Amino acid sequence: MRGMWTRSMPSPTTAGNVAHMARSSGWMRCLLGNFGLFSAPRTRTAMLVWLTPSHAWENEQDMDSHTATGFPQLIDSVRKVAAGVAAAQAPDVDARARFPIETLAALREDHVLAAAVPRELGGPGCNVQELSQLCAALAQACGSSAMVLAMHYIQLACLARHGMGSDYLRDYLRDLVRRQDLLASMTSEVGPSGDTRSSVCAVRRAGDRFQLDKDATTGSYCAHADAILVTCRKDEEAARSDQVLVLVRREDCTLTQTTSWDTLGMRGTCSPGFQLRSSGAVEQIVPGAFADCSAQTMVPYSHILWSALWWGIAAGAVAKAASFVRGQARQTPGTVPPTATRLAELQVQLQALKQNWLSAARDFDALGDDREELMGMGWALRLNNLKIASSEAAPRIVHQALQIVGILGYKNDSPFALGRHYRDALSGSLMISNDRIAAKNASMLLVYKDAA
Ligand SMILES: Cc1cc2nc3c(=O)[nH]c(=O)nc-3n(C[C@H](O)[C@H](O)[C@H](O)COP(=O)(O)OP(=O)(O)OC[C@H]3O[C@@H](n4cnc5c(N)ncnc54)[C@H](O)[C@@H]3O)c2cc1C
Repeated sequence: MRGMWTRSMPSPTTAGNVAHMARSSGWMRCLLGNFGLFSAPRTRTAMLVWLTPSHAWENEQDMDSHTATGFPQLIDSVRKVAAGVAAAQAPDVDARARFPIETLAALREDHVLAAAVPRELGGPGCNVQELSQLCAALAQACGSSAMVLAMHYIQLACLARHGMGSDYLRDYLRDLVRRQDLLASMTSEVGPSGDTRSSVCAVRRAGDRFQLDKDATTGSYCAHADAILVTCRKDEEAARSDQVLVLVRREDCTLTQTTSWDTLGMRGTCSPGFQLRSSGAVEQIVPGAFADCSAQTMVPYSHILWSALWWGIAAGAVAKAASFVRGQARQTPGTVPPTATRLAELQVQLQALKQNWLSAARDFDALGDDREELMGMGWALRLNNLKIASSEAAPRIVHQALQIVGILGYKNDSPFALGRHYRDALSGSLMISNDRIAAKNASMLLVYKDAA
């Protein structure tokens, strides 16, 4: 399947929690001011709507008067969006493998997309502990939406931690607070595939402009993003591992879809392959080597935020199992159903998984400006272990939740359905293959002696 994406392509969507969306008249104006299909499944009525581009928000009055939102407000917003919009849309997002457009619009409206922008640039400056909690809260309702939010934050953190020496990137981040741009990522490439530290494509500089083309194997929500951070060789003579990260703005690129995204899970991330053709100003090249950005930011943020959201998916499944068990208990007052014991066992695993990512997030935040430690094997092993452990634990916990709920969890049309949680959780071990990570750990352990 091949198709050209252009920025004027409308995205069809179904109605979510309209009450939430209608909270702001500006929001409704924005909905109705752009053209696309908005169909409410219950009433079968249709409205014309086009939702995605953040540029549409630029002139909204409430955005002009924006002041940085703090973490307590952000977590409150995310919980409301999760319960009110994401949970309602998740089955349709999954069934149709479509982008969770309503959820992202609601997050944008509440300024959640700027959470990782430093305070000095007008953002809330959330640390990793806070970002993880935002992703975990959303994942309990919709794994795909949480993965989109996590991937966006990871890219944002790369800019915020490695682009502060560039006037261009500082201005970009300032504008992002106002516009609530959505950032996507292109690391995987035909050839090196999932080896993020290796690129075939190279950025070509001519004066103050660059050109960059990439054949990406997987590009989550690239067709819905306002910009994409792309890894590539730093020039055409550079070795495959001598990489830089480039901020490619949507208006400066064309994307040709090269593969489909009809997957087992994480269907709403809309992650087919793309051929990217782009150009821009050389200031869009993030200063410094990607090797540093990867070790100091991309890997730690990825493994911690992904673990948090995988925990969220597992917690969502356990919540369904708990509700099922309570229902059983109500039917036989005075007795504890046997499933309650299984539920108690499951809570142990859920708590262990949570403590693993929380402690990594706390220790990461405690490093402050000390980035040297992150270049060492101790942190690399710890983060790799976290990624492997949580991506294996999440589907195991969902599996056990399914054993508690039984056939009602197996049925797709039951309120206790667990199929989506199961399928979404299975993506974790593939998303940067656990085998690939384990192989890196194995070589490090040949020389790394601090087993503690
Ligand atoms: C939901 C989802 C969203 C994604 N979004 C994006 C995105 O937005 N941008 C992006 O760039 N990528 C994205 N990816 C791609 C992801 O980052 C990986 O690149 C991809 O999952 C790896 O593909 P692969 O299975 O071919 O693995 P590869 O790493 O290429 O491995 C292929 C096979 O070889 C094995 N293997 C590889 N190396 C070793 C080794 N050293 N030792 C032993 N076995 C090995 C693996 O186990 C696997 O079986 C996404 C993936 C998923 C699942």
